[in-house]
Amino acid sequence: MALRRLTVDRTEQITPSIVRITLIGDALEGFSALGPTDHVKVFFPDPATGALTMPELTGDGVRRPTDGVVISRDYTPRQFRPAPFGAAELDIDFVLHAPDGTRIGTVDAAAGGPASAWAAAAHPGDELGVAGPRGSRLAPQDVSDAVLIADETALPAFTRWLDLLPASARITALLDIADEEVEPYLTGEQTQRASVEWLYRSDGPGQLLESVRSLDLAPDVYVWAAGEASALVPVRRYLKHEAALRTDQLDVQGYWRRGVVNLDHHAPVDPTDPD
Ligand SMILES: Cc1cc2nc3c(=O)[nH]c(=O)nc-3n(C[C@H](O)[C@H](O)[C@H](O)COP(=O)(O)OP(=O)(O)OC[C@H]3O[C@@H](n4cnc5c(N)ncnc54)[C@H](O)[C@@H]3O)c2cc1C
Repeated sequence: MALRRLTVDRTEQITPSIVRITLIGDALEGFSALGPTDHVKVFFPDPATGALTMPELTGDGVRRPTDGVVISRDYTPRQFRPAPFGAAELDIDFVLHAPDGTRIGTVDAAAGGPASAWAAAAHPGDELGVAGPRGSRLAPQDVSDAVLIADETALPAFTRWLDLLPASARITALLDIADEEVEPYLTGEQTQRASVEWLYRSDGPGQLLESVRSLDLAPDVYVWAAGEASALVPVRRYLKHEAALRTDQLDVQGYWRRGVVNLDHHAPVDPTDPD
């Protein structure tokens, strides 16, 4: 697995709560992310000192540094543009959030976690570390019907699914967002590619489960869901136990969990009912 030190080339506020950071650097040579859910470990500078501390690759594998504070979080490589004759570029889209998870959708990032706070203040020339992806799980190519469920943090992966599923696949999307200000994240073309239902959390809780329950699921449907882990527990329960989807039809991933710092996404979404 490669460990790369990269530099911010530019930032773009895509929606009030999502900022796209474009990274450049010679270290991007050889970068590749071919699967829709590929993710990288992003390393941030210590806010107290400004020092960026990353593990090191040695002949014996990855070694944690003895000095400095290592701060890392998982992110989706939204787009990589290799450039045979210029500078390669990597886009990562960061959701800006408050620390308690209650105000996703408002830009109050100075108070959020270190990743969100870093992204809110990022400027050209700032340094960042990127490790991975560890490997790519390619999008299944035999899917005829797919249901994709995502909150803001999973919108980058959602758009990769749109790009990587076969053109013949019918896609239904349930997008669980703070409010209508997030909608411009998708381009017109992306919105056309799927039958998209936007669900605003500002309208109250419970809509996601209700919408999932009202889906008319094709027998071989493939369902991918990612976002806030606790919100996905009842969704997963319904799809697994009531809709009786097979394990190869269902992939539910917690991308963050309310009240948990740096969620380990390998931990079960529903600890009472692990995979
Ligand atoms: C495979 C994978 C891919 C991911 N891809 C992306 C991506 O492309 N873009 C992206 O923005 N995120 C993505 N995430 C989610 C991101 O890793 C987490 O949101 C991460 O916790 C943010 O770190 P932080 O330092 O800002 O907050 P932390 O220090 O981890 O958490 C501080 C507090 O903020 C809360 N919190 C964390 N994230 C959010 C949030 N989004 N909204 C509201 N409250 C929150 C926590 O519950 C905690 O209380 C991905 C996660 C995984 C596992």
